[in-house]
Amino acid sequence: MQYFDPPNIDKSILRKAGINETVLVPIKPIKGAFPLNCLNNVKAYIEHFGGEVQLGWIFSIMGNIALKLTAHAVVKTKEQKLLCITPNPYRKNKVRFSPDNDINGLIVDNFLPQKLVPLISNTMLDNYLALEREMNDLRLTNSGVVSQRQVQNIELKAQVLYPSILQLAKENTLQKDYCFCGSNKKRAKCCK
Ligand SMILES: [Zn+2]
Repeated sequence: MQYFDPPNIDKSILRKAGINETVLVPIKPIKGAFPLNCLNNVKAYIEHFGGEVQLGWIFSIMGNIALKLTAHAVVKTKEQKLLCITPNPYRKNKVRFSPDNDINGLIVDNFLPQKLVPLISNTMLDNYLALEREMNDLRLTNSGVVSQRQVQNIELKAQVLYPSILQLAKENTLQKDYCFCGSNKKRAKCCK
């Protein structure tokens, strides 16, 4: 089970994360752009072609039980159009994006922040997301250098919770929903 970006995320889900406005931004990866390296990709693009950095959020979900907001940089062209130039493993044509310039204050050493939002009320899910946040914070505060022991400690705790989290995801994923496994197929044609 993993976070994945389904073809559609319901607006009611996004509202749970306080997101009201989104736009579909065309994806046109440029030569030399790497996935997960959007800010550097955008800066390199701007150096050559002009424009400016537009920060915002992109979205992925886990098993219909958690929403992940990932900070993402796209280009605002000289013509004021948004353009995503970073290759995306899930999306080929357009990516749903919510512009938010406040993200600027959350960037530490080029590491872009994430937000995890529970979609159901469940203590075990809250604990699981807290561990994910702990892992993210560890990465941020150590500028990418994370001690193996700290990571193992958090992973061990997450492993203990995982079977219950998977069960929750199964219970909250209907046959017509995208499968909790992250395959991007409907559950009816995927996992039992
Ligand atoms: Zn599946």
